[in-house]
Amino acid sequence: MKKVYFDHNATTPIHPKVRSAIEPFLGEKFGNPSSIHWAGREVRAYVEEAREKVASLINSDPSEVIFTSCGSEGDNMAIKGVLMGNLKKGRHIVTTVVEHPAVFRTCKFLEDFDFEVTYVPVDSYGMIDPDDVRKAIRKDTVLISVMFANNETGNLFPIKEISAIAKENDIVFHTDAVQVVGKIPIDVKELGVDLLTASGHKFNAPKGIGFQYIRKGVKILPLISGGHQERELRAGTENMLGIVAIGEASQIAKEEMNEKSRHIGYLRDRLEKGILETIPYTVINGHPEKRLYNTTNISFKFIEAEALLVMLDMNGIAVSTGSACSSGATEPSYVLQAMSLDPLCSRGALRFSLGYGNTEEDVDYCLSVLPSLVEKIRKMSPFYKK
Ligand SMILES: *Cc1c(COP(=O)(O)O)cnc(C)c1O
Repeated sequence: MKKVYFDHNATTPIHPKVRSAIEPFLGEKFGNPSSIHWAGREVRAYVEEAREKVASLINSDPSEVIFTSCGSEGDNMAIKGVLMGNLKKGRHIVTTVVEHPAVFRTCKFLEDFDFEVTYVPVDSYGMIDPDDVRKAIRKDTVLISVMFANNETGNLFPIKEISAIAKENDIVFHTDAVQVVGKIPIDVKELGVDLLTASGHKFNAPKGIGFQYIRKGVKILPLISGGHQERELRAGTENMLGIVAIGEASQIAKEEMNEKSRHIGYLRDRLEKGILETIPYTVINGHPEKRLYNTTNISFKFIEAEALLVMLDMNGIAVSTGSACSSGATEPSYVLQAMSLDPLCSRGALRFSLGYGNTEEDVDYCLSVLPSLVEKIRKMSPFYKK
C-alpha cells in the first residue's frame, strides 16, 4: 500500500544528511565534552559548531543558544525560569487561549502556586489582536508568552508587534516558535524577542533535542540544576547525537528554506484547492493569508473527523485531528473551540501538514481517495441530506 505522511506538525522524518552527521557519535566519538582528555576534546568542538549553526539560522549570537531536550522543556524553562528569576517584580503572565499544552498547562500549573495568568482570546480566524495583549498587561506582569505559529491551524501571530508592546512595558517576551523554526526565516534581533523555543524533531532532526534562544541580559533561572553545562542554565551531560543533529538540521533548513517553502507551499495549495473544489461542505479553518505554507486545517461538515482519519489511515494516509480523546469521548480541539467554530465544523476538522519528502503524487493520491471516503461517512450521518 502507498504510504503518505501528512502529519509533519506532529513530527518529521530525520533528514538523511542529519543521519549521516550523527553516525560517528554512535561509535568512536563517544567522549564527554566536559572531559579534558582527548576523548572529550574531540567532541567539544562539535557542540560549539552546532551552536553556531543554530545561531546562524535565527541570527543570534551563539552564546545565546542553549540546548534542551525538546520543545516542551524549552517552554517550561522559559516560563518557570523567567518567573522564578523575577519574583520581586510580580507573579502575572499574559498568554493566549490557543497555546500548545507545553505553554498552556505550564501556566495552569503555575496558577496552583499563586501565579496569575491572563489568557488572551482569538477571533473566528484564530488570530489574536496585539491590542488585547496590551490591555492584559498589569503592573505585576513579568512575562508575555505568545506562540509564533499555531500547530493546529498554522496561523502566524504578530510576534514583532507583541514584542514591541512587551518592550515598551519592560516585560520579558517569550515565543514558542516550534512550528516556525526551519520553515520560514527567523531573525531574533529584528523580532526583538527575549526567548524563543524550538524543537529538533519538528524540523528533520531526531526526537530528544531542542534549543532555546535566550537574549543576553534576560533574567532566568534553570529548570535543571547540576553541572556547569550550557552556561549553568541547563545541567546534564550534553546530548551529543541530538546536538550534532539539530546543528545539521539548522544548516540544511537555512540552505534549503527557499526551495522548500516554494515546493511544500505548492503542494499544500494543490491539496487544499483540490479538496475545496471536489468535496462539498468543506471550509478552511484559520487565517486565509497569515498562515504557514505547509499546513491546512479543513472542516468536512457532517463528519466525525476521527472516522475520516481512520479511513485515511486504512488507505495509508497519515493526518491528524486536534481533538483529545479523553475518557473515550472525543472533544473537539480546544483551538477550534476557542475560535467559536460551529460544532458541525469543529467536529469534522482534519489537519494536513506537509513537509520534507512529500511529492505531487502524495497529494494526487490523497485527492483520489478522499472524496469517496467523505461521501461514505456522510451517507451514514442522520444530518446529511444531499
Ligand atoms: C510540538 C510542539 C511543542 C512540543 O515540542 P516537543 O519537542 O514535542 O516537546 C511545543 N509547541 C508547539 C507549537 C509544538 O508544535
